Amino acid sequence: MNKCYPYKDELLSSLIFRISRANYTSVSNITNYIFKTKGLYLKDIDLYNFSKDELLSINKLLNIKNIRKYQLLKYIGYIEENFNFNGRKRWITHFHNKKNDLKFYGIRFCPHCIKESPYLRQYWRLLIVNVCQKHNCFLLNSCPNCNKNIKYPNSHYEQEIFNCYYCGFDLRTSTTETIKKESIHLKVQNILLNILNYGYYKLNNRYYYSIGLFYLLRLLIKNVMRVNKKTEYYIDNLKPKELSYFISFSLILLENFPHRLNKYYKKNKLLNLHTILDKYRNKKLNIPNWYLSSIYYNTISTRWL
Ligand SMILES: [Zn+2]
Ligand SMILES: [Zn+2]
Repeated sequence: MNKCYPYKDELLSSLIFRISRANYTSVSNITNYIFKTKGLYLKDIDLYNFSKDELLSINKLLNIKNIRKYQLLKYIGYIEENFNFNGRKRWITHFHNKKNDLKFYGIRFCPHCIKESPYLRQYWRLLIVNVCQKHNCFLLNSCPNCNKNIKYPNSHYEQEIFNCYYCGFDLRTSTTETIKKESIHLKVQNILLNILNYGYYKLNNRYYYSIGLFYLLRLLIKNVMRVNKKTEYYIDNLKPKELSYFISFSLILLENFPHRLNKYYKKNKLLNLHTILDKYRNKKLNIPNWYLSSIYYNTISTRWL
């Protein structure tokens, strides 16, 4: 078998794809061969909990000891409390492998990165990452030629990782929108990535667990989207530029908390607590207590930026 070695920030699914191309076969054949488990190619292997036998088999064939380094499971406990493997994740793009399924925008990319080294980066599946920090541009989540989602793994075997599944367009030639180094998009993305990597954040001399903030941010984004008459049910379906805008806007709303947020809610007539907390109103466990208590009593002042 022709081997490929993973890049340190590569997604496992991308590595498997490259191995299948290096061996002139399909992704399904190669997953059957490596893991000895049928149907695995239909699953989201970046979030798949491998069995001991499967891990042994990968180690033997690919000589990779720590396969989890290339998966997204390591973010459990940081970005979400746990993953429902079959359902949607709050901050990780949804992967779907049904034929011609146009509903899912699970693959995001930077054309310049793909051009430099054709593999998929782990960060591209995190919805808090919407900007390429190396090339200072927004990521893309659809083909600029036919506007369809990026389908992956690509089952047309003559196609490369940088080809659009539907029209064959070379995604490396996509144009991007440049962002200024001092832009709020970059600033906010850095703040959130730091919080994700540490697993906590500091507010008024106290430390708080990162999950709570990500939980809250998702809830605020929904409210801001509602005000902007955005009806997308899943934030994956927004263009990365647009999502970055909503994330930044929501984080800024928390500045000088709760005054700025209250003003915004008042102005946009979001005054009913049931609307504000949306479907989370019965699951307040993960919402940070500084937010909940201030929503009721207007007490704490925050500084983020
Ligand atoms: Zn890039
Ligand atoms: Zn296309």
